[in-house]
Amino acid sequence: MKIYADTALLPEGWKSNVLVEIDKVGRIASLSSDVEAAKAKATADHRVPILLPAPANLHSHAFQRAMAGMSERRGAEALDTFWTWRQIMYRFLDILKPDDIETIAAFVQMEMLEAGYACNVEFHYVHHQPDGTPYAALAELSHRIGAASLDSGIGLTLLPVLYQYGGCDKRPLGPGQIRFGNDFERFAKLHQGATAMLPNLPVDSAIGVAPHSLRAVGQDALRDAVQLAGSGPLHMHLAEQVKEVEEVEAAWGARPTDWLLANHQVAENWCLIHCTQMTDAETDALAATGAIAGLCPITESSLGDGIFNGVRYLSKGGRLGVGSDSNIRISLSEELRTFEYSQRLRDRCRASVATTERSTGRVLFEAVTAGGAQAAGRKSGRIEEGAWADLLVLDGKSLMLDGVKGDEILDMFIFAADDRLVTDVWSAGRHLVKDGCHVASDSIRSRYREVMTRLRQEF
Ligand code: ZN
Repeated sequence: MKIYADTALLPEGWKSNVLVEIDKVGRIASLSSDVEAAKAKATADHRVPILLPAPANLHSHAFQRAMAGMSERRGAEALDTFWTWRQIMYRFLDILKPDDIETIAAFVQMEMLEAGYACNVEFHYVHHQPDGTPYAALAELSHRIGAASLDSGIGLTLLPVLYQYGGCDKRPLGPGQIRFGNDFERFAKLHQGATAMLPNLPVDSAIGVAPHSLRAVGQDALRDAVQLAGSGPLHMHLAEQVKEVEEVEAAWGARPTDWLLANHQVAENWCLIHCTQMTDAETDALAATGAIAGLCPITESSLGDGIFNGVRYLSKGGRLGVGSDSNIRISLSEELRTFEYSQRLRDRCRASVATTERSTGRVLFEAVTAGGAQAAGRKSGRIEEGAWADLLVLDGKSLMLDGVKGDEILDMFIFAADDRLVTDVWSAGRHLVKDGCHVASDSIRSRYREVMTRLRQEF
């Protein structure tokens, strides 16, 4: 299959008259630029105006999409915070059945594709029945996420989550948390059960390991989880909330990032989610590891987590990517815009991460395509031979992009327009979004509507 693009963002920069050939497995087989346009257009299966690498969405809890917008009222407590939001999330979980979880996951994956993401890195922590009893198949709900990815076609990196305790003091799980809990031994079996589905999924699917956070996993189990992950994706929530930092500091004698970097060989396969609470020294130290900071700017805004020290982190060569986490809203352009605007509001500056060579949009977009791929353990994020064909097309007919060239394309996409500019998306060569709409949109949306009607009645 061949795609001809008038302009494309390649690893060496913007190129014109680009021809991309994709093999049967979904990898980029060959790539050439400055080809003879008329001839290339005639032989291509698709002719597109602007071709970009499609990033991975590196952090998601799919089921939370269904409670988006339900937590915007004041509760009884004096201050509405992350922790009161979490109470609502736990209550919502009590009514979710396996079919619901699969339907919601397919829906949110479809939305991710329509936003321009080619891959969903699912941080999957709901494992058991509402009363905490495991399903007959321990990895039942992991399989439901896998089944959803077959419906949506998105590239999946599944991260089964190890969750042991209700806090650093190893208190037992609260009533809202019993669907998550496993000791390491049972978790290893669950992980094995989840891995067993891989042969039934597309070959670009992958699996990793996610110890939930320093507050939910003991030190021995964390070491075991790191060993289980090997060189594969290893994700963990880190330093999201001030209260969390204080709790870790009191229990383990150091701030979360300091503690982790002192006690583990944090390497390129690690992805630390949030990192909104880091000192300058922690920021520099994390940047030096080559690990990914997994940022979720829309969710971090929604939950009032704080602002990631992005300017300093990038200036130290730190790597990052973005994810939609609580899935309150699925928007690639808005994640990037929110990240940049948070830096500007804090520092009272403009174009905070731009360089003299590359614009803000270019710096951000290239950071998250490379970082998302690394975090997903997926050879993608760049339009180059041998990579998965994770590609997105922007609408060249849009008034926003009329006459626009080079980096300014990305600046317009991120700051002046939004994801409605995304017309086509391929995930590992699967053409899933056409004319801005997912190919199975009708059936996925109608199933989601049915589930939501029931859930709203029960919630
Ligand atoms: Zn999360």
